[in-house]
Amino acid sequence: LAGKTFRPEPSVVDVNGVKIGGKELVIMAGPCAVESREQVIEAAQAVKRSGAQFLRGGAFKPRTSPYAFQGLEEEGLKLLKEAKDATGLQIITEVTSDKAVETSIPYVDMFQIGARNVQNFQLLKEVGKSMKPVLLKRGSATTIDEWLNAAEYIMSEGNYSVVLCERGIRTFETATRNTLDLSAVPVVKNMSHLPIIVDPSHAAGKSRYVIPLSRAAIAAGADGLIVEVHPNPMCALSDAAQQLKPSEFDSLCKDISKLAPIL
Ligand code: PEP
Ligand code: MN
Repeated sequence: LAGKTFRPEPSVVDVNGVKIGGKELVIMAGPCAVESREQVIEAAQAVKRSGAQFLRGGAFKPRTSPYAFQGLEEEGLKLLKEAKDATGLQIITEVTSDKAVETSIPYVDMFQIGARNVQNFQLLKEVGKSMKPVLLKRGSATTIDEWLNAAEYIMSEGNYSVVLCERGIRTFETATRNTLDLSAVPVVKNMSHLPIIVDPSHAAGKSRYVIPLSRAAIAAGADGLIVEVHPNPMCALSDAAQQLKPSEFDSLCKDISKLAPIL
């Protein structure tokens, strides 16, 4: 279902009228994690002003350490919904379990499956059954073939609204958090009809590399970006080093709009 043999033409995933995979770029932006009402509303207003169509923000955070901030869960979802009501942005959030899917359904417009769950087949089937659009991130050690098979799990439940997201893979290089595999963009476009966006933030791990990687992603043919933006990155409860300030995100949007039109 994910392959070109099933559908030779590129698919467009429609999220309440926002089209991912069309001629225009789609920008998703917002904090790594929802931390407070002030933080998420401020982030939402800023990213909306700069041209984003989606607000991102984690309520269920899959952290490497069990002692790190785990997210506000349902309280965070409610704050995302408030931000949607205040700005009209579409909401995307990560789900990490069947229970999180069930809890999130009334609050969000699109689910994110994070890198750590790309082969959590039970969870893939669950978001497939939900029929909500899904952003499927590549795992840090997932081949493109394994990733497309993960998409197949979602689609085999009848949910064809799948968007892929390259977010960097693990290599020997340590200067960046992950190595952004830009070749995944043309390779996926050759193998699949599904739209693909790029997450420069989790690839870079450092905010200074986010803008050049975003430019490269668009030049490579990505259908959009998902970028971490925080009103005060230094105080962020997760991924502090890679989140852009609103002013930096604004420059990013101005920059990439020279390469391709933003929706
Ligand atoms: C995230 O988007 O906050 C996240 C945890 O990303 P990834 O799954 O790509 O590591
Ligand atoms: Mn993050």
